[in-house]
Amino acid sequence: MESVKPQMDLGNIRDLFADIVGTRHVMGGDEIEPRYKSDLMGFYESKPDLLVRPGSTAEVAAVLRVCYDRTVPVSPIGGNSGLVGGTSCIGGVSMALDRMAKVEQVDWANMTMLVEAGVLLQSVQEQAGAHGAIFPVDFGARGSATIGGMIATNAGGNKVLRYGMMRDSVLGIEAVLADGTIVSGLRSTLKDNAGYDWKHLLIGSEGTLGIVTRAMLRLRPAASGMRTALLAVRDVAAATHILRTLEAKTVGGLVSFELMWADYYEQAIDARRVAGAPPLRTGYPLYAIVEIEADADDGGEDRFLAMLGSFMEEGLSADIIIASSERERAAIWEIRENIGEAMAAKRPFLGFDISVGLAQLAAFVSDVRRRLCTAVPEAEAFFYGHAGDGNLHIIVTGYRDDEAMARSIESHVYAVVADFKGSISAEHGIGLHKMPFLGQTRSREEIQLMRRLKLVMDPSNILNPGKVLGEP
Ligand SMILES: Cc1cc2nc3c(=O)[nH]c(=O)nc-3n(C[C@H](O)[C@H](O)[C@H](O)COP(=O)(O)OP(=O)(O)OC[C@H]3O[C@@H](n4cnc5c(N)ncnc54)[C@H](O)[C@@H]3O)c2cc1C
Repeated sequence: MESVKPQMDLGNIRDLFADIVGTRHVMGGDEIEPRYKSDLMGFYESKPDLLVRPGSTAEVAAVLRVCYDRTVPVSPIGGNSGLVGGTSCIGGVSMALDRMAKVEQVDWANMTMLVEAGVLLQSVQEQAGAHGAIFPVDFGARGSATIGGMIATNAGGNKVLRYGMMRDSVLGIEAVLADGTIVSGLRSTLKDNAGYDWKHLLIGSEGTLGIVTRAMLRLRPAASGMRTALLAVRDVAAATHILRTLEAKTVGGLVSFELMWADYYEQAIDARRVAGAPPLRTGYPLYAIVEIEADADDGGEDRFLAMLGSFMEEGLSADIIIASSERERAAIWEIRENIGEAMAAKRPFLGFDISVGLAQLAAFVSDVRRRLCTAVPEAEAFFYGHAGDGNLHIIVTGYRDDEAMARSIESHVYAVVADFKGSISAEHGIGLHKMPFLGQTRSREEIQLMRRLKLVMDPSNILNPGKVLGEP
């Protein structure tokens, strides 16, 4: 999947960039390493005229000033794990933030961490752990995704129920605007109502309103105990009952609630890297991973076990396994996390990250299945996701491998999302890929407002042009 734009005449821009960042951090054509030219799964190709790797905020600003003066498009790249074509750049400049990957400060008293935008999520988690804290946004691509990319996409993940999305874990950001102006709001305060909170405009803006260079992250205390269980669940209604009971009885202790439908679970078990029997046998209709902060000392663990027992007595769950070691916990999460890559190896392949209200989840899944079965009977659809917050992933494969067929499948799925008043993007953003469908999730007035904001922030349309809103 690739959009085509003419190559532009960049004149002496390479020399100007070299003066700013150093010759070896400016590349063109075949000098550009493959990791910058495609996203993690090879969905989108990037063919920038130049790739530039600034090493500081001042360098980002100087590069942007050059681009602004010459109306040269700039597309930021983090870990390339977004998978919706957000980093794709055909002509113009790709800006990789990977040289800006420092954790600058951990402040235990304020529970904050000051980082550069190119730092990996995994490094942030490790540094937080070394200080007895956690950075609570977590998901499978933790070894690739960067804090800048996560801010730009308002990433969510496995612990949204308990800790929210990036918006809830970013106290302040520093960003460079289209004209090279550096705006810094790297504050540590939780409460701050002094005028417009502009950082929230940039969070989730996918590199179209500014380039994030540093962030003040909010850390949380590490829980003293964590229990993980895998449940075979009767149906979505039972899953909802289990979820709401756990929420009510653990008072904020429920961290994760992931659902996997039977056919997904079977595929995931086949794709496992570890040998041996699966944690639970295949063949149940639905599986839930439940993770909870439970302290053995204050009886939290016993209460959790009692609740799980009651779910079985009430017939909501037919079987349950509770991880008794970190290895067993990892074996449960592996079923949920590694499958994406295994499925992506199957081509053709389409991935969706939609959200609908939890009460509509069962009807939504059956409507998507019914619609696809009628329109594209050869397609196979697998359902799983962070369902506790209404976020569902759908992987569709097995269909005839051509672009028109893929677009038709997307139209069917997004039409059902619109019927259920859900969102076409719960996580990965819009990028290039979902842009044609934005109108199914946002009203005309909402899109017009977005366009007006874009015009104010980036009047020459040089920041990640074509993404989210398309061409003006
Ligand atoms: C296996 C797997 C599991 C995933 N699970 C989840 C999940 O559970 N939850 C979730 O939310 N996402 C998930 N994702 C999607 C992805 O990891 C996130 O969207 C992540 O936030 C992207 O970070 P990145 O650094 O890779 O950004 P990139 O993919 O490099 O970029 C994403 C967008 O942000 C822009 N951007 C990058 N850096 C900056 C910057 N410094 N300033 C401004 N704009 C910038 C880019 O131009 C692009 O538009 C998953 C992806 C994979 C491959």
